[in-house]
Amino acid sequence: EGIVIAIDGPSGSGKSSTAKGVAKARDWRYLDTGAMYRAITWWMVSNQIDVTDAAAVAQAASRPVITMGTDPSAPTVQVDGTDVAQAIRTDEVTGNVSAVSAVPEVRERLVARQREIIAEECAAVGGIVVEGRDITTVVAPDAPVKLFLTASAEARAQRRSKEVHSSDVAATQAALARRDKLDSSRAVSPLTQTADATELDTTGLSLDEVVGLVVKLADE
Ligand code: C5P
Repeated sequence: EGIVIAIDGPSGSGKSSTAKGVAKARDWRYLDTGAMYRAITWWMVSNQIDVTDAAAVAQAASRPVITMGTDPSAPTVQVDGTDVAQAIRTDEVTGNVSAVSAVPEVRERLVARQREIIAEECAAVGGIVVEGRDITTVVAPDAPVKLFLTASAEARAQRRSKEVHSSDVAATQAALARRDKLDSSRAVSPLTQTADATELDTTGLSLDEVVGLVVKLADE
């Protein structure tokens, strides 16, 4: 038995930095479930699967083997033994990931793997911080700490622009809005804010402040 901290929220709300910071502070593990959806999307695109063809995506969903490294100081993601940490951050993958992650067979497979990782790491080190879009609702609804991170559209676009070294904040904001709309409106496990998750608006807060607040919640 270990502690699971479940964090959901829209793109750019600060989930990854917060989750890594909390895991480091507590010597726990870290799981970026978005990287898993990106990895499967990268594989689909690399293998010329038409991502708008849900049946083709469903049929191929069990082919790539995705391996996650959960050290918060050096998280890794591999597909069939190849490091794809950089490859999954391209505009092509980012633009196609919502379509792939809306396919039920993709989610079934990744959610099952996520639950295995959570169980293994909790047994091994006592805690894991998991971030995504359906962690508080589907993957780990019984987690003792459940958070929904938000931030203003402007703040999210500013942060994401910095991450991807883009000066076009307006274009970044439009791309985030498109992805959030797709992720919130899909039929299976849409991004939703539930009443039992604590909302944390990170707009005016520094990363250290957010991490401090979450660590405090975890210690309660
Ligand atoms: O977190 P990140 O922005 O890297 O996630 C990429 C995409 O993966 C999201 O836009 C969403 O389509 C999908 N995703 C998901 N469920 C999760 C995590 C991510 O559908 N738990």
